[in-house]
Amino acid sequence: MAKSGSWSGGCACGGVRYRVAGPLREIVACHCGTCRRTSGHHAAATACRTADLQIEDMGTLRWYQASTEARRGFCGHCGGHLFFERLPANGTTSLFAGTLDDTTGLVLRTHIFTAGKSAYVMIPPGMRAFEGYPDAGEMPVVPSP
Ligand SMILES: [Zn+2]
Ligand SMILES: [Zn+2]
Repeated sequence: MAKSGSWSGGCACGGVRYRVAGPLREIVACHCGTCRRTSGHHAAATACRTADLQIEDMGTLRWYQASTEARRGFCGHCGGHLFFERLPANGTTSLFAGTLDDTTGLVLRTHIFTAGKSAYVMIPPGMRAFEGYPDAGEMPVVPSP
């Protein structure tokens, strides 16, 4: 469940601000090692079509490339994690959900890479949980507008 519309968000210090004019994917929690170590917990991300994303302020935006498969955009001042993009680009950009100004209408019901989750994290009953990356068709996608 995700809605079309206009979304906005940014990091804690305001150095990076963005807008999305289009639908967002439902939120997915990722427990992979890179998400754990960059976020300090696990990551929860929605996603948009990259064409719908406008980064309005990017003075403090930095990119961290943990592997050849993806890069992560974060604020070099406050450390906030904002963006995740596949390499090469696949037309969608993931947005770390806690950076949105308003998440009304978005849901979280999928956890991925649970094989690497921290021992203290309990996946709530009723969630869809995948030990790694879901098979084709199982991963939520950005809906058509
Ligand atoms: Zn910041
Ligand atoms: Zn991850």
